[in-house]
Amino acid sequence: MEVAEVEKKLKNWKNIKFYFPYKELTGVPKWQTVVLTCMDCRITSNVFGVEDPGELTIIRNAGALLTRDSLRSLLIAIYELNVRNIFVCGHTNCGGQMSPQRMDITVEKISKRTNSPPQKVLELLEARNASQAFLGFENVSLQVKKTVFNIKNHPLILPVGVHVSGFVYHTQSGEFVKIL
Ligand SMILES: [Zn+2]
Repeated sequence: MEVAEVEKKLKNWKNIKFYFPYKELTGVPKWQTVVLTCMDCRITSNVFGVEDPGELTIIRNAGALLTRDSLRSLLIAIYELNVRNIFVCGHTNCGGQMSPQRMDITVEKISKRTNSPPQKVLELLEARNASQAFLGFENVSLQVKKTVFNIKNHPLILPVGVHVSGFVYHTQSGEFVKIL
């Protein structure tokens, strides 16, 4: 889709609503909940039951991983947006399920299209190798478990008693399976 068409869609959103009823929203999610999920386009806010803006905070990255940046967002959600529940939501058929070889191929692809040697690509990503750059994982359920554990036990999160749970969203059936 052309950029202009996407921009037109953004404008339409406001027009469709006739008048914009969300002016009073503050950015504090009504459900006091944040979802850490994947960037995958099959996962939209409505799969979580969101009907309107202002209900749920969603943090996304490839693979729904706890990274330096998603941790930053989680801390803002907890300490600035009154969030009490964290849902980690991975999904089946995730592009984040990458073998080490697959991650090497990604580095090679970037290298070719940017005319930069693979070593330069890694240097720019501040990583020693492709696995460190792309954080691929083999099993989504195990990855969700690991992420839940790491969030729960993070020294900046553990003492405040936030509820943390993990799910896998099945992209074929639309079901959520609770992992823990
Ligand atoms: Zn994914």
